[in-house]
Amino acid sequence: MAEQMAEPVASNEAEIPRTASSPATAPSAGTAHPFWHALPHREVARHLGVGAEGLTAAEASARLARHGPNRLPEPPRRHPLLRFLAQFNNMLIYFLLAGALAASLIGHGIDAGVILAVVLANAIIGYVQEGKAEEALRAIREMISPHANVIRDGQRTSIGAHELVPGDVIVIEAGDRVPADARLMRARGMRIDESALTGESITAEKHEEAAPHAAPLGDRHSMAFSGTTVAAGQGAAVVVATGTHTEIGRIGKLMAEVEPMATPLLRQIDGFARRFTWVAFGGAALLFVFAVAFRNYDWADALIAVVALAVGVVPEGLPAVITITLAIGVRRMAARNAVIRLLPAVETLGATSVICSDKTGTLTRNEMTARRLFVPGGEIEVEGGGYRPEGAIAWVTGAATGDPAMAAALPLVRAGLLCNDAQLRHEAGHWSVEGDPMEGALVALAVKAGLDPAAERGAWVRRDEIPFDAAYRFMATAHEGPGGETAIFIKGAPEALLPLCGADPARWGAHVEAAAGHGERVLGFAAKRVAQLPERLSFDDVQEGFDFLGLVGFIDPPRPEAVAAIEECRTAGIGVKMITGDHAATAATIARQLGIAENPLTVTGAEVDAADDEELVDIARRTSVFARTSPENKLRIVRALQSTGAVVAMTGDGVNDAPSLRQADVGIAMGRKGTEAAKQAAEIVLVDDNFASIVAAVREGRTVYDNIRKMIAWTLPTNGGEVLCVIVAILAGLTMPMSPAQILWINLVLSATLGLALAFEPTEPGIMKRPPRPPGAGLLSPFMLWRIVFVSLLFLVVALGLFEWSLARGDDVEMARTIVVNAIVVMEIFYLFNVRYIRGSSLTLTGVVGTRAVIAALAAVVVAQFAFTYLPLLQEIFLTRPVSLADGFLIVGVGVALMVVLEIEKLVLRRLGLFAAEKI
Ligand code: ADP
Ligand code: MG
Repeated sequence: MAEQMAEPVASNEAEIPRTASSPATAPSAGTAHPFWHALPHREVARHLGVGAEGLTAAEASARLARHGPNRLPEPPRRHPLLRFLAQFNNMLIYFLLAGALAASLIGHGIDAGVILAVVLANAIIGYVQEGKAEEALRAIREMISPHANVIRDGQRTSIGAHELVPGDVIVIEAGDRVPADARLMRARGMRIDESALTGESITAEKHEEAAPHAAPLGDRHSMAFSGTTVAAGQGAAVVVATGTHTEIGRIGKLMAEVEPMATPLLRQIDGFARRFTWVAFGGAALLFVFAVAFRNYDWADALIAVVALAVGVVPEGLPAVITITLAIGVRRMAARNAVIRLLPAVETLGATSVICSDKTGTLTRNEMTARRLFVPGGEIEVEGGGYRPEGAIAWVTGAATGDPAMAAALPLVRAGLLCNDAQLRHEAGHWSVEGDPMEGALVALAVKAGLDPAAERGAWVRRDEIPFDAAYRFMATAHEGPGGETAIFIKGAPEALLPLCGADPARWGAHVEAAAGHGERVLGFAAKRVAQLPERLSFDDVQEGFDFLGLVGFIDPPRPEAVAAIEECRTAGIGVKMITGDHAATAATIARQLGIAENPLTVTGAEVDAADDEELVDIARRTSVFARTSPENKLRIVRALQSTGAVVAMTGDGVNDAPSLRQADVGIAMGRKGTEAAKQAAEIVLVDDNFASIVAAVREGRTVYDNIRKMIAWTLPTNGGEVLCVIVAILAGLTMPMSPAQILWINLVLSATLGLALAFEPTEPGIMKRPPRPPGAGLLSPFMLWRIVFVSLLFLVVALGLFEWSLARGDDVEMARTIVVNAIVVMEIFYLFNVRYIRGSSLTLTGVVGTRAVIAALAAVVVAQFAFTYLPLLQEIFLTRPVSLADGFLIVGVGVALMVVLEIEKLVLRRLGLFAAEKI
């Protein structure tokens, strides 16, 4: 403890383990712990009992038990009671409570009780739903929890970041979020953005040499700190502290909170409801004055009537129900492999009009196989599929040289194996890749050519490298061979390599075009013998003097499901643009195979660079394939498309893609090959990197929007009908067709059941056969307004008609009101079935049967209505009378009649082509 006070930085972040492998070197517990940044990294590794092979699985799990998971504490959740009370904190509830108070003061105890019941029921529904929605979001967030690349038992594997322990050797590269505090053992061109920790916005340069003992946090260039982001380069490091013992843990940082459920749509609805409340307020006050002054209503009765009226008109349940709809959408999208990080994306997705997609891995499978080799002696074909390292290697042309193909391929194949970070893995008869798929294919190729990857890599020790970066499109490594000879190998895009070699660009270019014309991904290889390896491999070392070894063509088949998804986009009026770093001819061929276009207009990154912003707008609109693009190109393309009014979804994976992901209306990061930086910038993470999942998410987005519209289309006319009844009754000086308590009853029963059921509506058929919704379109289209007015009037006519008819035949007011309330509820039910298909006919088998949610809601309403009508207790509270069987049939008949009228209305509108014109 005393030591800790003297040296605040050196806490027990990593207890020094006493493993069998390091009994002699491990200092006994209790000695002062070192400043990791100031020690040579070998010593740090020794202290932590770890070698080049990393920890063993057994040691790692023992340490995990000792140190606990590598996690920051969760933010404290709001106390349930507070959360419950928060449900009461809104205008409308205050208004209702005031109404209840007023009612009880003037002796209307029952009305006051009913109002309170409404308030309570609303709060409980809101509370439960909010909790469920948050839980769902939390669970979905788990699907994209960060991973770490770690060396264990000599193997590079990917594990959950929370499983890291002190002593683990991790590999980090551009785009990664550093998963724990770690001492760098090797860093190449590494820059880390430490703003999360130090607030410093300039990225910090990192290397493995020890830093001065007294260096402050921001100057510890030998350390990578948890929670910071690798901006460039690549390296390996040994974990020294995890969880709360990390620097970021020490400053009391908590895990990111789940985003609150607020979206533009929700805000729009909220604002609408609030304004509505005020209007209702004002209208109710005016009506009250009118009723008392001109219609001789008793002021107490009038007060209660207008309170009920205001309560009736305000769609208080709407925001809660919309939140639920959004949450259901999020869940459905997660089931289709699209994880929503930011809720507004649910809405925006539904309006997407252009999807810009990566090629490799998104539209194609990213399962590469080397198929074709071009070496100086001729063309070679390789057999075999997948990563199984079996298959013949034979000349296509060039046998005339007399060399066996295998021998001629060897220099290229060896370069491909050494300038390579991937490993093949063989499990249960299945071959897979740990690392980049293209590099995995090169390992398989090497085995086919008779090389032993482990032996070869052991003999040719890698001394240094320049990691691959999409900005310069190559990768270089420096090696020392078995006889002490030294060489630099390089692999990358042929255009990037040919100039370094002085090779004939025309000849090789023709080969590139030929392979790319088959949709193959083409990679070039070169090597250079050097007398002495440079201390550090730099760009100066890869400028000239290389021998061009040849080309490899990889097949990467299109995803079959992407073909179907692209066709779906076509009918849905959504443009698809391929934006790739790959060669133009390869991209164009794949685009053709996918059905993006028969003869896709292809533009390269260089042409994008040459175009000014104005020209680019036109180019972006017409082009369906962008090849050899840079991340900067992507950003400009998004902007250009957006300036045409398009709602753009854009995929990305690299650290440099973050700006375009942010700029896009819907940024989509790849869950598998995407970097943490890209995920942080995106609204959506695709768990399976699959284009088809984007389209599935768009479809769900449209469904959510449809369902919200259905809810509004159902709720507003309902409220409108009730309110018109009250207003007309007061204006005409008639007896109220419903008592205030009854109005509240209708609201309570219906919004908690039927309105909610619409949130669960499945996707309407044909949803991907209409154009995207215009981005600025309001929720209330002219059609919706018409619907609201029309249905409100129908409700009014039926309710007042039934009321007067019942009175005329000699019923008392209570009987007449019971009939009216039941008729309104029955009409609501039938209207709900009508609304389930906004445009299409509801008179189909699926339309009539409904979803489970609809059936359940229906059953609940029916039970509630029977209780309301026949249960003595409720009869007493609501002053209802038992309705006769004949009247019951009449009431149901009224509902059927309403349904028929509205189906005819839809039919007429469809015939007139009005739906198409309005694009709803
Ligand atoms: P894509 O849009 O297909 O994902 P990338 O940006 O990943 O394109 O790659 C662009 C080009 O960079 C490739 O066509 C290839 O020529 C080259 N390249 C890709 N990965 C590597 C690698 N690991 N090593 C060397 N070159 C690579
Ligand atoms: Mg790529």
